[in-house]
Amino acid sequence: MLSSMQDEPLSLATLFRYGTTVHSEAEVSTWTGTDVRRMSFGELGIEGARLANALRGLGVGESDRVGTFMWNNNEHMAAYGAIPAMGSVLHTLNIRLFPEQLIFVANHAEDKVVLVDASLIPLFGKYLPSLTTVRHVIVTNGDASALEAPAGVEVHAYADLLGAQNDSYDWPDIDERAAAAACYTSGTTGDPKGVLYSHRSMWLHSMQVCSTNGMALSDADKTLAIVPMFHAMSWGLPHAALMTGASLVMPDRFLQPEPVAQILAAEKPTFAAAVPTIWQGLLTYLDAHPQDITHLRDVVVGGSAAPPSLMQAFQERYGVRILHAWGMTETSPLGSVAHPPAGSTGDEEWHYRYTQGRFPASVQARLVGDDGNVVPNDGESTGEVEVRGPWIAGSYYSPDGAVVDGDKFDDGWLRTGDVGKITANGYLTLVDRSKDVIKSGGEWISSVDLENAVMSNPDVAEAAVIGVPDEKWDERPLVAVVLREGKEATAEQLRDSLVDKVAKWQLPERWTFISEVPKTSVGKFDKKKIRAQYGDGELD
Ligand code: ADP
Repeated sequence: MLSSMQDEPLSLATLFRYGTTVHSEAEVSTWTGTDVRRMSFGELGIEGARLANALRGLGVGESDRVGTFMWNNNEHMAAYGAIPAMGSVLHTLNIRLFPEQLIFVANHAEDKVVLVDASLIPLFGKYLPSLTTVRHVIVTNGDASALEAPAGVEVHAYADLLGAQNDSYDWPDIDERAAAAACYTSGTTGDPKGVLYSHRSMWLHSMQVCSTNGMALSDADKTLAIVPMFHAMSWGLPHAALMTGASLVMPDRFLQPEPVAQILAAEKPTFAAAVPTIWQGLLTYLDAHPQDITHLRDVVVGGSAAPPSLMQAFQERYGVRILHAWGMTETSPLGSVAHPPAGSTGDEEWHYRYTQGRFPASVQARLVGDDGNVVPNDGESTGEVEVRGPWIAGSYYSPDGAVVDGDKFDDGWLRTGDVGKITANGYLTLVDRSKDVIKSGGEWISSVDLENAVMSNPDVAEAAVIGVPDEKWDERPLVAVVLREGKEATAEQLRDSLVDKVAKWQLPERWTFISEVPKTSVGKFDKKKIRAQYGDGELD
């Protein structure tokens, strides 16, 4: 028997209209280096309508892909609102991808138009001649004439183009299953893979971001979205803001610890989100230049494991709660958030906060062992984490319909490549990425656990651990350490400091001191680069 309820599609056009009218007084503000450029959501509605009119004028139609090569800022927010709402597909290009990957991604998605921040022209200009489907480039925030257009490509100045447009747009009805946005994985192995989010998946995901078990975003919040808009849709914050009227503060290109501290002081956001390396850098800066940051009710940290020492430091030294979250591009990205169960306190509360978090009702999770059988969610058994749900990818985008990386999908489940355990009450603890686990003498060593243990040493700023070949044990850990400025410690001292933290047989023999851990295009530890240098186990 079918229900008697309306079958109203979940459309981002409805969401954009709602956010920019009902929450017209909320704001998106962009840091300029000294101040902010403010735009109310009401003005954002007009800007979005003008952009949609301009894009339509350039021939952008339903399902056409429009790329963005931009920082987090007001104009990017207008693109986030307008492009899906007009029935086209927003394709956020990762400005830090390797050139050949960036070119692959834009050509694979067949981007027709790209919006580019003027400050990125020197970079984008090098790629443009290789982008075979791009016909128009719209330059925001600066001089469009600085971009040399190859034959067949027209360059437009955003301000001039939008200035000539109508203030309203007749947003269409959209099938909720249609693609709204495209996001490519950062391609740590092989070519990047495209995930196409639907209107429905983004709507439902936004509701989860707003829920109290998610990020609890509301109109009382001012949200500092440090996580790039090209990194898994800035973790859903822009559309969640439209849903609740939370204001947004955008850092633009100012992502170093000092300007982030300045933005915190000037705008006093209540909420912020970024990968651990950003918070680690900010912590070092704040320790040298203390400032009150208690206006932050919560900081979401994810994308890679948040070291417990980092979470404790923010809580104890700055009174700020770090919420640890897990997800990936394929999961929109919100998978789990580590809110401890009600009533837990002290060590028990910390224990839950260190986990990767609890799965919400919409994300089912199971663990699959090496033999392909499902292992129980008993908090002890480990296996590869597989997930399914309405905002989890069911396949990768392929222009010709061929199956891409089919082994990532297992009978309707997404194989995450993460190894972990799940408790009966739904909390995920990741042991490692399957490719990062170190197999020593037939036993597993978690590179993440070792990194966390090393980073809990106050002399250490960062530490990354990889497995290297070993004649006797097959593989042993190698630690690449960055010491805090002015600190001195020998490998022996660091090793001794681990004695009460990890099992004796896990204590690493190989240490190397480096000035900075190399980072990926989204700011995570780049173990591929560390492996390239030290993967043979030879220290220099
Ligand atoms: P990439 O694979 O290029 O890093 P994603 O941002 O999609 O792109 O990364 C998803 C992966 O990041 C997850 O599969 C997991 O390995 C890791 N990850 C995300 N959040 C966490 C977390 N809280 N703790 C540990 N690892 C995490």
